[in-house]
Amino acid sequence: MSESAAGDAHGVTGDAGPAAGATGRAGREIDPVSAGGDGTRAVRAGLPEPAKYEPTLPGPVFAAHYHLPGEPTGPYTYGRDENPTWTLLERAVGELEAPGRDGVEALVFASGMAAVSAVLFSQLRAGDVCVMPDDGYQALPLVRAQLEAYGIEVRTAPTGGDAQLDVLDGAKLLWIETPSNPGLDVCDIGRLAEAAHARGALVAVDNTLATPLGQRPLELGADFAVASGTKQLTGHGDILLGYVVGRDTEAMAAVRRWRKIVGAIPGPMEAWLAHRSIATLQMRVDRQSATALAVAEALRERPEVTGLRYPGLPDDPAHKIAARQMRRYGCVVSFTLPTRARADRFLDALRLVDDATSFGGVRSTAERRGRWGGDAVPEGFIRLSVGAEDPEDLVADVLRALDASAA
Ligand SMILES: *Cc1c(COP(=O)(O)O)cnc(C)c1O
Repeated sequence: MSESAAGDAHGVTGDAGPAAGATGRAGREIDPVSAGGDGTRAVRAGLPEPAKYEPTLPGPVFAAHYHLPGEPTGPYTYGRDENPTWTLLERAVGELEAPGRDGVEALVFASGMAAVSAVLFSQLRAGDVCVMPDDGYQALPLVRAQLEAYGIEVRTAPTGGDAQLDVLDGAKLLWIETPSNPGLDVCDIGRLAEAAHARGALVAVDNTLATPLGQRPLELGADFAVASGTKQLTGHGDILLGYVVGRDTEAMAAVRRWRKIVGAIPGPMEAWLAHRSIATLQMRVDRQSATALAVAEALRERPEVTGLRYPGLPDDPAHKIAARQMRRYGCVVSFTLPTRARADRFLDALRLVDDATSFGGVRSTAERRGRWGGDAVPEGFIRLSVGAEDPEDLVADVLRALDASAA
């Protein structure tokens, strides 16, 4: 690729820069993308202006460094700091998490944990207090131990019942995960954010499970939306990715600096695959949420199933608050079978659902979560991630596997 072709293909060099997103178009009367529906925004998210003979979504730019005569100023200097493929993906993620909002910045990372750690470790100092959920993602206890080793006080409380409210005094940062993984409890983001801000604390929400089409934390009052892009955002179970979206310029500068010093950056190929996958996000999320509800409704009728959770079920304990702050309820259903052996037989009998960890992919997966040892869940606890199979096929497979596992 020639230098000038590369410049054009990036489609970003002449534009307003990474943080611009929807704001870069503010001069126009109405931007049909940011003003459009979720499907419209998903298929167009982050695309450069059309340019004759250029592809719609420019291919991945593989570059450790860029031609840089003279003063070493951006936008593209060294591959650990910036990459044009990231720029387009960051624009897409920003447009989905905060459509039409000014001053919002998005940064992509090598994984969800890289993004989670970037926020926590860039914002907190020795002596600070951080409030986390005690029922969140299974790597959070490891993060907690590391924060404590650096002299940061960590307090935890359950996600349900907005219990984190009770331990907020003196906090510098509130970490929320809603719906929580794997228990699917939900807390009131707006209420918690207001209480945290009243005490001068920043608020971060792990938005992995909901995706930006299910919930928009910044609109609900959070300072950061953080997520693993490994799950439903990209949805094919073939890449690891993470992102942070924030509206506080100073805080985001610290997150960017953290990415630079730790170097937890996504490869250009992963970033491009992620952007390509986002085009189908609305279709996938709608389909998978609708099927998840159908599966949850079928499971509700089964006497051997206890502790069934799906925020979209009208009688779920989290439904009321979920209905207020979520736009879609996600693809994960969790429930408990009477014994570990029964759960193992159930997983073994499934034909359309792979026994695998992670969630959000187009192919259904399920696992006995207790096998990892990190979550406070019963031995028979199953986390089922509903894929894009035909709903009737999937429901039939789940019911057949329940029958087969009874023996
Ligand atoms: C998977 C997950 C993460 C970590 O993401 P990785 O991409 O695996 O690093 C963080 N939070 C939640 C809620 C997750 O499900």
